[in-house]
Amino acid sequence: MGYKKPSFIERMAEKIGLIQDLHSAKEENPLPSLTEPGKLTKFPPLDQWDDWVEYEATDHPRKVKKNYTIVPTTCFNCESACGLTAYVDKETMEVRKFEGNPYHPGSRGRNCAKGPATINQITDPDRILYPLKRVGKRGEGKWERVGWDEVLEVVSARMRKAIKEERHNEIAYHVGRPGHEGYTNRVVQTWGVDGHNSHTNICSSGARFGYNIWYGYDRPSPDHANAKFILLISAHLESGHYFNPHAQRIIEAKMKGAKLATMDPRLSNTASMSDYWMPTYPGSEAAVLLAMAKIILQKGLYNRAFLENWTNWQTYLEKRHPGTEHTFENYIEKMIGEYEEYTPEYAEKESGVPAATVVEVAIKIGEAGEKFATHNWRAAASGNLGGWCVSRCLHFLNVLTGSVGTVGGTSPNSWNKFKPKFHTTPPGQKFWNNVHWPEEYPMSMFEMSFLLPHLLKEGRGKMDVYFSRVFNPVWTYPDGFSWMEQFMDEEKFGLHIAMTPTWNETAFFADYVIPMGHASERHDLNSYATHSGMWIAFRQPVLREAARRAGKHVEFTYEVNPGEVWEEDEFWIELSWRMDPDGSLGIREHFLSPYRKGEKITIDEYYQYIFENTKGLPAAAKKEGLTELNYMRKYGAFEVEKHSYSKHEFKLSAEQMAGADIDEKSQVIRKDGKDIGVMVNGEALVGFPTPSRKNEFYSQTMVDWKWEEYAIPTYIKSHIHQEKLDWDKGEYVLVPTFRLPVLIHSRSANAKWLTEIANRNPIWMHPQEAKRFGFKTGDLVRLNTDIGYFVDKVWVTEGMKPGVIACSHHLGRWRRKQDKGNRWGTNTVDIQHDGNGGWKMQTTSGIKPFQSKDKDSKRIFWADGGVHQNITHAVHPDPISGMHCWHQRVRVEVPHAEDKYGDLFVDTNKAHENYKEWLKLTRPGPGPDGLRRPLWFKRPLKPDTKAYYVENMDENGRVKRELG
Ligand code: SF4
Repeated sequence: MGYKKPSFIERMAEKIGLIQDLHSAKEENPLPSLTEPGKLTKFPPLDQWDDWVEYEATDHPRKVKKNYTIVPTTCFNCESACGLTAYVDKETMEVRKFEGNPYHPGSRGRNCAKGPATINQITDPDRILYPLKRVGKRGEGKWERVGWDEVLEVVSARMRKAIKEERHNEIAYHVGRPGHEGYTNRVVQTWGVDGHNSHTNICSSGARFGYNIWYGYDRPSPDHANAKFILLISAHLESGHYFNPHAQRIIEAKMKGAKLATMDPRLSNTASMSDYWMPTYPGSEAAVLLAMAKIILQKGLYNRAFLENWTNWQTYLEKRHPGTEHTFENYIEKMIGEYEEYTPEYAEKESGVPAATVVEVAIKIGEAGEKFATHNWRAAASGNLGGWCVSRCLHFLNVLTGSVGTVGGTSPNSWNKFKPKFHTTPPGQKFWNNVHWPEEYPMSMFEMSFLLPHLLKEGRGKMDVYFSRVFNPVWTYPDGFSWMEQFMDEEKFGLHIAMTPTWNETAFFADYVIPMGHASERHDLNSYATHSGMWIAFRQPVLREAARRAGKHVEFTYEVNPGEVWEEDEFWIELSWRMDPDGSLGIREHFLSPYRKGEKITIDEYYQYIFENTKGLPAAAKKEGLTELNYMRKYGAFEVEKHSYSKHEFKLSAEQMAGADIDEKSQVIRKDGKDIGVMVNGEALVGFPTPSRKNEFYSQTMVDWKWEEYAIPTYIKSHIHQEKLDWDKGEYVLVPTFRLPVLIHSRSANAKWLTEIANRNPIWMHPQEAKRFGFKTGDLVRLNTDIGYFVDKVWVTEGMKPGVIACSHHLGRWRRKQDKGNRWGTNTVDIQHDGNGGWKMQTTSGIKPFQSKDKDSKRIFWADGGVHQNITHAVHPDPISGMHCWHQRVRVEVPHAEDKYGDLFVDTNKAHENYKEWLKLTRPGPGPDGLRRPLWFKRPLKPDTKAYYVENMDENGRVKRELG
């Protein structure tokens, strides 16, 4: 950091002790790193982390010294896993604050507001400190404290019984916030169950499908920092995916002259920082992108080498234009022909973005060429029927400009993400769980998790042992009352264990609520594609490390955490060990120490093994005289690769090629039954993990799985397309997918600083629409969805596209009067059920000050906790990607006489009917050869290949015995 000369006033203030003296190099000053002119540092120097001295802020102006040990860990408040450093008071052994970790290659010492707010979460007076067991009826709100031993005994016995009785498909692990490279997936696979379920189909499956169908990777990794032109279809500067790591690199690029364009119907902070704000009508983005693609093609701004070498154009011509000579020129000509109707004027008609802007941005993109970075995460891809076309058409622009895997371009996320090596790899499960992977959605990117209540209601299965892990579907998902109904039914959910660091609306309906740690209280390994390099980070329980530094032995992390807060890693080891006491289930063998024969693995051994097998880490650790584990305990992160570009062009070695066959027509290289590469211009290269090993402009997979009309990138009109709404009846599209930057999905209500900043979610409405209804800011509005309604307040703003309304996703948290927790951010509600699917919720009290050990709880000045809109949303499963299409058709009404702020109503019978309507849109499997799913598509927990074939399975969803 550069040295800035102090002003006269600063000097005087320092002299008389009003502010700390940062400029005089006095010998006696206890903070040497901050004293020498020109030596100001942003972070405490590493050599002082074990004994860092600061003045106690609350004792100011007295200079009371505090000694800290600084322990690195990572944030758990979004997926980015930015580096944090915890300041542990050496006297009390309590964490006092969190700051950034400068040694973390992704976040580089920086955090958003949610990182430091971790301190709120760990000191929250309402947090769950001990394992709890339900007493009374499910959902009644009565709990008693139990020990970890009881939880482990009861749960492991029930799981063992289910497995012995071959009811494997009745065990499920349902994850909300993940955040550990492969740990729990591996654990679930050791149980032999097809029981992984995730939140992904309400989050990112739409975008993932669009990317996957192109190149076999399901996420992008833009190299923002080196880009010339950045196109975002979401709000990455303020809240989008990999928020802080991306935001800092986007700004870096802008400071070097890059231009930024954003498609968003809302004037987000990101849009306001952009050079081009394109407020597209929701769902029209793919039409705009195709118009741009055509301009790039027509103006010859495409990258011939990339298109020629890395797209499957010969297949395209052969299948789609038989008889056409296979020349590159014909490829370009036919492509232009495919998109004849996608003129700038058509794009304007669909989106509302002026045709001239579409042309201008397209030309800029073409000129940026290989330095064109793009990202779409949730946003449009998660809002619309056919939302997956948005990322498919966005990637099309990368393909055309050849900016795939380039400096300043956009790489596949897997190139920038580390894959750990485990001490054992369990075999693929021999089951296929139709409740998670129903036949109607054979191409679904992830499990159809948001349909679970409806699938159970139809009698398709049962959850005998169900773990919800940092997962809150009653609140976060659409149609939460259907979840509530099913959770209350003990025939459907036998034993529900909520693993959560904080109370939530789903935990209210569990049988056990077991407290899992926040960021600084748990072990996890993280690696995310935040930029063009590759890193790993170690989320460690900081008090455990502080105890180790102080020479204390800790066996289980709950011994040092607040109360008896534990963590999943150790819990899973203990649970799995007990499930298989004699090793006969084949589970125990995966929990044996790789260092001590026949003994149970410890958590330290688990990580030591991974770190020992991390490229470059042993050498880095050796240089410092440390074990690999101690290196990670010290720095909290390690850079595995500085840059990772053009990995598709890696050459296959002679050893890899030995015994391989080359398909004469496709030039795909095959070995031992697996595709390993492709011949390009006479060289054997790795390529992409698609059937052609190239980017597939033409997708045979789409054709094979009955969606021939979508064989090439296209545009599908959304379920909320303007043609489908009746404006005269007051119908609008509600955009409910955005987040305020300080909110953590359903985990902000335990963070007082964050809740203080953001606690309301009014309806964003353009003055033009407000005028139509006579609304002004603060007025009540009733929004009728397909299954009910909710009553919110209006915020009149020109920051919203006319004709579209919006509501932030992450507010409206609640508890009933019998429930506990999250008093910083929850309304108290009354819920009434008419016994026939009708559910009514009313807010009985807003947020109020309360008495607790935290003095701030008496100082709460905000009363409004927002409105729970999600629960009134109908499920909208995209028939191809499986993504829940979040945007809702709503009928806007002035409030009825009886309406009060926060009122809402849902009819779950209607919700089920609505589910069936959307089910009709599907084209069920099996596909070619009786496959349940394309074999080349990923699954989080990949079963044995035999399980992919319908004919191989018995009535229990198990691979038939004779097949093993
Ligand atoms: S972006 Fe913010 S919430 Fe996400 S990991 Fe980084 S600091 Fe935490």
